[in-house]
Amino acid sequence: MRVPAAGAWVLLFDPLKMKSNLDIAVVGGGISGLSAAWTLVRAGLRVRLFEKRHAVGGRIVSERTGGFLMEHGPNALIAPAPGAEQLISGLTLCDSRIERGDRVRHRYLVRDGQARALPLDPLRFFASGFFSLGARLRLLAEPFIAPDPGDETIARFAARRFGSEFHDYVVDPLVGGLYAGDPTTLSVAAVFPQLKRLERDSGSIVGGLLRARLHRRGGSAFDPRRRKLYSFRDGMATLPRALAEDLGTAIVANAPVHAIRPTAAGFRLQVDGGVWSAHSVIVALPAYAAAKLIAPLDAAAAEAARGIEHPPLAVAFLGYRSRDITHPLDGLGVLMPRVERRGVLGMLFSSTLFEGRAPDGHVALTAYVGGARQPELANLAPREMAAMVHDEARNLLGARAAPLLSRVRYWRYGLPQPGLDHAQRIARLRAIEASLPGLFVTGNYLNGVSTAACVDEAFAVAQRVSERLRYGRAAADMFRTLDGLTACEP
Ligand SMILES: Cc1cc2nc3c(=O)[nH]c(=O)nc-3n(C[C@H](O)[C@H](O)[C@H](O)COP(=O)(O)OP(=O)(O)OC[C@H]3O[C@@H](n4cnc5c(N)ncnc54)[C@H](O)[C@@H]3O)c2cc1C
Repeated sequence: MRVPAAGAWVLLFDPLKMKSNLDIAVVGGGISGLSAAWTLVRAGLRVRLFEKRHAVGGRIVSERTGGFLMEHGPNALIAPAPGAEQLISGLTLCDSRIERGDRVRHRYLVRDGQARALPLDPLRFFASGFFSLGARLRLLAEPFIAPDPGDETIARFAARRFGSEFHDYVVDPLVGGLYAGDPTTLSVAAVFPQLKRLERDSGSIVGGLLRARLHRRGGSAFDPRRRKLYSFRDGMATLPRALAEDLGTAIVANAPVHAIRPTAAGFRLQVDGGVWSAHSVIVALPAYAAAKLIAPLDAAAAEAARGIEHPPLAVAFLGYRSRDITHPLDGLGVLMPRVERRGVLGMLFSSTLFEGRAPDGHVALTAYVGGARQPELANLAPREMAAMVHDEARNLLGARAAPLLSRVRYWRYGLPQPGLDHAQRIARLRAIEASLPGLFVTGNYLNGVSTAACVDEAFAVAQRVSERLRYGRAAADMFRTLDGLTACEP
């Protein structure tokens, strides 16, 4: 549907097409919008969530084919994740969770053209022969490097504290794997705030991590204080599916929101199929999509959102017969440092990471291509993409026959890349809540890209919305509802 020019706006509000008055309209049915809507519905508020596509979930897409379970978006939740734990418990999904597989013993990094195994344990990792003697001596000097209180790129931070070899062979591939990002442009304060905090508070990252480790000893597998990877037996889409079931008719699918306009009593939304009015609106979209909707309302905030880069990213899933891969695949996966000049950012050993991702006698790999490092590769045609990834699997993992299944998913806009101006952009976007009371933003560009960070941010925005509505009863109910939710029993 074509979005009309501003002058035609008044004609759109045909009273016959006007839908009922809502407390809150949520725009976007990814995990951010779903989590916000869920808490507000539980509080008894009149909520509708508008989703452009026929199904909710956004980036979270799990697909089963021929006994394989493919994750086209996120593969895992990373604990500690307090909001996500509450959500999982509230949705009675505790028993559907699965923990990282027992066969995950290493992480692999490519060096000199080979996948080299490194222990998961950070101490043994540091002591391993992966690094040159010079790099290890440089690491020992880390506690004596003076803190720098200002923000800087991840590359500068890593090279300053740990030396360039550690940057090239650990930090760069990690940033490629987590953010599909380029450490020479990303802000360390935005992407790894905990490292900047450790530097400030402990004077040393290594010392601070060792102290934190000593505190964390003990605890069970799902202890939310421990850093763990987990998912669900039927994949990550279990979460949006359960949210959609709970939300029921509060979800309006196939309903792109084209415009939001302030009114005396709140806002009007122009949605495919009609016009809705709402007291408050939560824009739960990726930054580039939020920019379009808020541009007529606040040009500076829209500009702040538009400037956050989202380089394209492709996800290639390959399923093989186990006997056709000579590598034991006994790890999380393999990451490629930029200095190794390969076409893939990293490959997850999906069937090792979580059980049930491949049928018996088969294995599954998920490769990530493009991102900020090589955006042009994210546009390779599916056949070329699958061939390139299989080539990597042949060279690094000893694949000796073609995959039985290959599937490529393209994300034209991949993950948000927080640059050195990110803090100012976010401050500008958050200021919209003061300049346009009743309009709220949430999403993966505000406070971390992970699914868990999106849930935390969505819960926080739901709380602010409910406070603003000043429905004494409803607000109190909501806090009771959330307070009652604890994490799953470990
Ligand atoms: C390939 C990939 C791998 C990832 N891996 C992990 C991982 O392993 N672990 C992890 O924690 N995180 C991971 N992430 C990050 C995480 O999945 C995302 O940050 C998160 O899912 C984003 O959720 P969201 O709701 O903010 O946005 P989205 O999921 O993008 O949802 C936005 C929704 O808004 C809808 N929409 C857009 N415009 C409109 C409109 N005008 N009107 C109505 N609806 C609209 C869209 O259709 C979409 O459904 C990964 C992401 C990707 C892409």
